Amino acid sequence: MERTYVMVKPDGVQRNLAGEIISRFEKKGFQLVGLKLMQITPELAGKHYGEHEGKPFYGELIDFITSGPVVAMVWQGQNVVSVIRNMMGKTNPAEAAPGTIRGDYAVFMGNNVVHGSDSPESAEREINLFFSPEELVDYKKATDFWLYGK
Ligand code: UDP
Repeated sequence: MERTYVMVKPDGVQRNLAGEIISRFEKKGFQLVGLKLMQITPELAGKHYGEHEGKPFYGELIDFITSGPVVAMVWQGQNVVSVIRNMMGKTNPAEAAPGTIRGDYAVFMGNNVVHGSDSPESAEREINLFFSPEELVDYKKATDFWLYGK
């Protein structure tokens, strides 16, 4: 079953949106397999956002993501990477559709409340960056039959 890395960014935690964001993925039917509140160090931030190094917004992005605690999570389910990206909405909240997390709760590009891996390959890299294998819990949910029909 596919997995993805999701985090409630520092603005989401400060604005009391962590529960709401978790709740949306829970109600959708995805399974939580890892969860922790943590402070991101500049070193970890640099690894996570390495692809943006050198871009004009990079410095602000690193300052922002290290400015307060984040809720780091791993979610599991069928097509979870792309479905969670759709549920998050476009990167720029001004363009994110109503009903998406960013469309409903954010207004400014830099402070867009939530992160989700953009591909299964990024998901694997980001999960390994933020979680050790022992922190991920393997368990069976009784609701699987009702979600997937088997
Ligand atoms: N970002 C920004 N300005 C930009 C592009 C991105 O501040 O012009 C920030 C924004 O918070 C975004 C993050 O950098 O969420 C990572 O950018 P990416 O393109 O990976 O977007 P995402 O995958 O988060 O939608």
